[in-house]
Amino acid sequence: MRVTQLFTKTTKDAPADEVAKNAQLLIRAGYIYKEMAGVYAYLPLGKRVLDKIIQIIREEMDSIGGNEISLTALQNSDVWKTSGRWDDEVIDVWFKTKLANGTELGLAPTHEEPLTKLMKNYIHSYKDLPVYPYQFQIKFRNEVRSKSGLMRGREFWMKDLYSFSRSQAEHDAFYDGAVSDAYARVFDRLGLGAITYRTFASGGSFAKFSHEYQTLSPVGEDTIYVHKEKGIAINEEVYTDEVLADLGIAKDELTQEKAVEVGNIFTLGTRFSDPLELNFTDENGDSKPVVMGSYGIGPSRLMGLIAEHFADDKGLVWPDNVAPFTVYLVSIGDVATQADALYDELTSKGIEVLYDDRDERAGAKFADAELLGIPYRVTISERLIADQKFEFTPRKSGQSEVLTGDELLAKLS
Ligand code: ATP
Ligand code: MG
Repeated sequence: MRVTQLFTKTTKDAPADEVAKNAQLLIRAGYIYKEMAGVYAYLPLGKRVLDKIIQIIREEMDSIGGNEISLTALQNSDVWKTSGRWDDEVIDVWFKTKLANGTELGLAPTHEEPLTKLMKNYIHSYKDLPVYPYQFQIKFRNEVRSKSGLMRGREFWMKDLYSFSRSQAEHDAFYDGAVSDAYARVFDRLGLGAITYRTFASGGSFAKFSHEYQTLSPVGEDTIYVHKEKGIAINEEVYTDEVLADLGIAKDELTQEKAVEVGNIFTLGTRFSDPLELNFTDENGDSKPVVMGSYGIGPSRLMGLIAEHFADDKGLVWPDNVAPFTVYLVSIGDVATQADALYDELTSKGIEVLYDDRDERAGAKFADAELLGIPYRVTISERLIADQKFEFTPRKSGQSEVLTGDELLAKLS
């Protein structure tokens, strides 16, 4: 993509009412647009980052047998009344609206009920199980406070996977095995593996614990107790002497940290299959309720967290795997022919390049390169091209090297 074809522009200042650092930077760099508090549009660069995060999660969910679907945001109240969750006291973040004829509708804050109902059409026998539908979908939640930019939206992207199993044992194997392994791979690939902990949290009535995936960050809203050696953590909501004894962990092995919940996995048991009558016939011909689990990840929260976590005083610094482009190609002076040729060559090799082909001062182009946070800046100038050389500058280190064309290609491939 050429910068002259990109409609967004960078700005020096963030909107005065935006207090979250992730949103300030993302707005200034033209990745997102603020519609209102907690509601953001994704612009071309931001859409590319969100899509990369989503694609990593998609690959890992597909690798464990996930079936991607897309459920509706508009919700009929009936199924939620059956489960007892239509009540605003039970789910306190509902957005509700009405059809012209007065029928009440809700905007889905999550999807256990409609999916359980839908699956009644497809699950009849033990032969139909287990199955793992999942989706990427915008959820609507009337959050009281929405001051953390993308990290707490009133509409936000969620990956929600649901498991439908024949027995508790089959559920447990998926929960502790396939899903937990896939989650670890997701956070590794997002560059967050070293600071993301599988965290014991409250489990509801069907399991002692649920597990949250908590990424250490000073801006986190959650407090967790981390066991660095074991690579696990305990949410303060279940941090009791009894739980510590249960897990065989001593208080002095733990450090208290602030963290952001980037995902969670939950044993649902028959919480939804009982009221919605999602049953199957087992090998002996007996009818049994399906055993369920739900597994969330927040792609938009992750985008805000990654933006904020890796940023420096000059702007964004994207990890390679989620960057909107790999290379920011800067042309300085009268070098359009050579810069065009390099752009074509890199692009033809499958390298994603944002080409700053504007008629702008070098200083302005470099400042934008820094704010945008694309991992590698490649500069072509009259002086460099006279020697058949290119300047290569990783965004993270800021240390420039002068390279030949072959050396440059070797670095980038
Ligand atoms: P929190 O305690 O932070 O409100 P939650 O327990 O309500 O989160 P879930 O309902 O389990 O979250 O949602 C699954 C995932 O969706 C979370 O792990 C998080 O990554 C993401 N998420 C939840 N609420 C928001 C939000 N308001 N904005 C952005 N992402 C969110
Ligand atoms: Mg919540």
